[in-house]
Amino acid sequence: MSKTVFITGATSGIGRATAEAFAKAGYNLLLCARRLDVLDNLKAEFEPEFKIKVTTFALDVTDRQAVSTIVPKQIEAVGGVDILVNNAGLAQGLDSFETSSIDDMETMIDTNVKGLLYVSRTVLPFMIEKNQGHIINLGSTAGIYAYAKGAVYCATKAAVKTLSDGIRIDTIETDIKVTTIQPGIVETPFSEVRFHGDKDKAAAVYAGVEALQAEDIAEIIVFAATQPKRVQISDITIMANQQA
Ligand code: NDP
Repeated sequence: MSKTVFITGATSGIGRATAEAFAKAGYNLLLCARRLDVLDNLKAEFEPEFKIKVTTFALDVTDRQAVSTIVPKQIEAVGGVDILVNNAGLAQGLDSFETSSIDDMETMIDTNVKGLLYVSRTVLPFMIEKNQGHIINLGSTAGIYAYAKGAVYCATKAAVKTLSDGIRIDTIETDIKVTTIQPGIVETPFSEVRFHGDKDKAAAVYAGVEALQAEDIAEIIVFAATQPKRVQISDITIMANQQA
């Protein structure tokens, strides 16, 4: 029977590319994000092309109540989940700490940290019940090396790594795996979101560096997910070649 991968934030960038990479590998997909119309376009594209089943639903991962009520129903409807990719995340309004908007800071914490823990806390019991599963979390090199004007974003990604390690230790007696994927600079709409849609500032992020592509990260996520049962990759850091 085909395995099912649940991907948050599958409408764009790394999430979308990861959905396509798992689809190519024959996995069924359970996809969520806030933009259901975009997910439904992916379903229409992937189901005939890859001969897999794609289930989509709208979800804001920051909505604790919605996560705890909608996600279990979706998982039950598809007969369980084998892999969770906690990809939904954003940088927003990055600026010096003293001038950054506290609303932007809270949005990053709510999405990157609290959203990830709501989803993980909801999905984990389904994995524990079967004594198998794999949680793959999108951290970042930003969680390893803090950079100017990114204090809160970097802190959220450091938190992702620590949460992953904590979940791995707390499930050590099970066959569940937990992996953190830590990409460097990846060319996706992320950069525009980061500067509230300012395309010039977004483009400047890639100056002097050939950025990673979302597909590069997707292939590495599938690699981490397809190792033998005895192999658990705790983390992978992927830098762009010219990234300092
Ligand atoms: P994109 O902006 O291209 O995609 C972000 C995705 O997250 C979208 O699908 C968006 O969907 C979803 N999302 C955002 N907020 C929410 C929410 N509240 N609820 C549900 N879904 C949400 O960014 P990337 O693909 O680049 O980023 C994906 C992940 O990779 C993030 O966690 C990011 O921090 C991380 N990362 C990115 C790097 C980069 O350079 N691009 C580098 C290192 C890590 P929708 O708007 O439809 O809800």
